[in-house]
Amino acid sequence: EEDINKVKPEYVKSFEFERKLLPSTWIVVRIDGRHFHRFSEEHEFEKPNDGRALNLMNSCAVAVMEEFKDVVFSYGVSDEFSFVLKRDSQFHDRHASGIVSVIVSFFSSMYVMKWKGFFPQKGLKNPPPSFDGRAVCYPSKEILRDYLAWRQVDCHINNQYNTCFWMLVKSGKSKSEAQDYLKGTRAQEKSELLVQQFGIDYQTLPAMFRQGSSVFWDKEDPTERYSDGPDGKSRKKVVVEHCNIIEQSFWEAHPNILD
Ligand code: ATP
Ligand code: ATP
Ligand code: MG
Ligand code: MG
Ligand code: MG
Repeated sequence: EEDINKVKPEYVKSFEFERKLLPSTWIVVRIDGRHFHRFSEEHEFEKPNDGRALNLMNSCAVAVMEEFKDVVFSYGVSDEFSFVLKRDSQFHDRHASGIVSVIVSFFSSMYVMKWKGFFPQKGLKNPPPSFDGRAVCYPSKEILRDYLAWRQVDCHINNQYNTCFWMLVKSGKSKSEAQDYLKGTRAQEKSELLVQQFGIDYQTLPAMFRQGSSVFWDKEDPTERYSDGPDGKSRKKVVVEHCNIIEQSFWEAHPNILD
């Protein structure tokens, strides 16, 4: 009983300080699958793009947006997703550790829960999927859009490379031969390689592979019957689109996302 009196809660708690993320900035939480190179092989993902795995990621992102209403836009490619929180979000008092940890753990749990729906024939093996996460603040809409553009450019560059790489491997080259073959090639040369050697027009590949996935709240189609909520306002739902988010036109067509 004497020991209990020795504990000073305020004192012990005082070590738990954390600086808040800069106010009035867009917080982006980017999560990325841990060791998914190995995970994707272990679970026999189709290469270079497994549509089931991408749709699973997208479905988890939709769940994140439905659970955490401060997330106003998400962009995903490969084993990563970026979640943009509204500028004046007070989620977890803007403490990075709280924001990142709940989004990462929620996403990971969803990934495991939804796995069977996307891979009905394939059980999850050990070690289970897990994700890392970080939070970064972007102080203006322009810089936030530059960030998103960077992720979409990365998607394109990686996808073009991976498409060439796996076509070469599937046509009989070893992985290191394919790597050497592509070393130093420019985008234009890769595009020509696909057409000339494999008859593939890059532009005809699925938009989800080329553009990644954008997830956001949108109004339900007003032409649909029963789309109005009880208060007469049209209901909103989370949509997944595969579009160019570098161009101004996307943001002009959806002015409310970042308002
Ligand atoms: P780290 O733990 O550092 O993130 P990693 O192995 O996850 O390492 P990344 O750079 O994140 O490496 O790359 C993810 C890898 O996962 C890709 O290179 C690809 O091999 C694989 N991958 C992820 N999603 C898919 C998918 N939908 N289809 C096929 N392969 C995928
Ligand atoms: P927050 O999201 O802010 O953490 P919380 O509801 O999780 O809110 P905590 O202060 O973390 O609140 O408290 C966790 C609560 O979960 C406990 O008050 C208790 O009601 C419940 N709980 C946790 N573990 C157990 C357990 N093993 N048995 C019974 N109840 C539990
Ligand atoms: Mg990583
Ligand atoms: Mg990864
Ligand atoms: Mg990655």
